[in-house]
Amino acid sequence: MGYESARNGGPIRIIESAMTRHLSIVPDLDEPALTVLDGGMGKLLHRMGAPFRQPEWSALTLMEAPDQVLDAHRAFVRAGAQVLTTSTYAVVPYHLGVDRFWEHGTQLADLAAQLARQAADEAPHPVRVVGSLPPLFGSYEPDRFQPQAAPAIYQLLVDAQRNYVDGWLGETVSSIAEAQAVVAAAGETELDLWLSYCLHNDPPESGPTIVSGETVAAAAAAVADDVAAILFNCCRVEVVAAALLELRQGLKAEHDHIRIGAYANAFEDEHDESYAANEVILRHRADLTPANYAEVGRSWVEAGATIVGGCCGIHPEHIEALADALG
Ligand SMILES: [Zn+2]
Repeated sequence: MGYESARNGGPIRIIESAMTRHLSIVPDLDEPALTVLDGGMGKLLHRMGAPFRQPEWSALTLMEAPDQVLDAHRAFVRAGAQVLTTSTYAVVPYHLGVDRFWEHGTQLADLAAQLARQAADEAPHPVRVVGSLPPLFGSYEPDRFQPQAAPAIYQLLVDAQRNYVDGWLGETVSSIAEAQAVVAAAGETELDLWLSYCLHNDPPESGPTIVSGETVAAAAAAVADDVAAILFNCCRVEVVAAALLELRQGLKAEHDHIRIGAYANAFEDEHDESYAANEVILRHRADLTPANYAEVGRSWVEAGATIVGGCCGIHPEHIEALADALG
């Protein structure tokens, strides 16, 4: 079933009921001491056998089998996730192609946000929805960022999702320039922004950096006036704790309210560095068992994190272990 036929077939009833419920939602402003995020949507859809291939990545499931996106959200809820991230990571020109993005991007992002909202609203525990604002021109590729083209694309993603989400999650942000574009887009709404930088997996001796090579301290300072949380995601688990410590220590007193956190990936260390993020599907390392990931998560909390979850290859069983260990 395609996303167009979903508008005319059975799923539309589900979607309408989610919209109706959303009208009565009062946002929960009490911040818990620790918030458990969900895990990586794309790799879970792949494992589920959902329609999934490059270059569309997870957007293909939205187009052809949106019920499986809902199932994936539900799996993370059952695992104990308190936040669901909309499955818009691949609803960008980079994955869809420019023409298809402008023709169908609003419809797809709207559908993705509704599916996350539905899974959150039917959850047995409080679950918030954050709208993903992903890299627009390729993950981990700060040199490809196009500051002139970015605002209109982000505007589409914000407008399509804003009626369904409780906040925004700028994800896998690889440079300060990307971060500033995300801040500008989210800033047009009243909703909180969580800004998540992608850390460099092989940082210099001088300390942790984001993918662009800009320091964690500079990256944090660039957005600190505009965000409710700063996180790190889609990097190796090994680089996170040091970056969290630097982040916490580097935030000035007036930014004490900013929460910090992380959600790392499970990609193998050894892979062809020349790949493009819309061409290959990377393999996973074997040592990040759920129990090991929970231990890593505990070390992040000790480093100051109050928001923890998982990115690519971190599945519901990892999130369950994390929630059990930290809850
Ligand atoms: Zn990831």
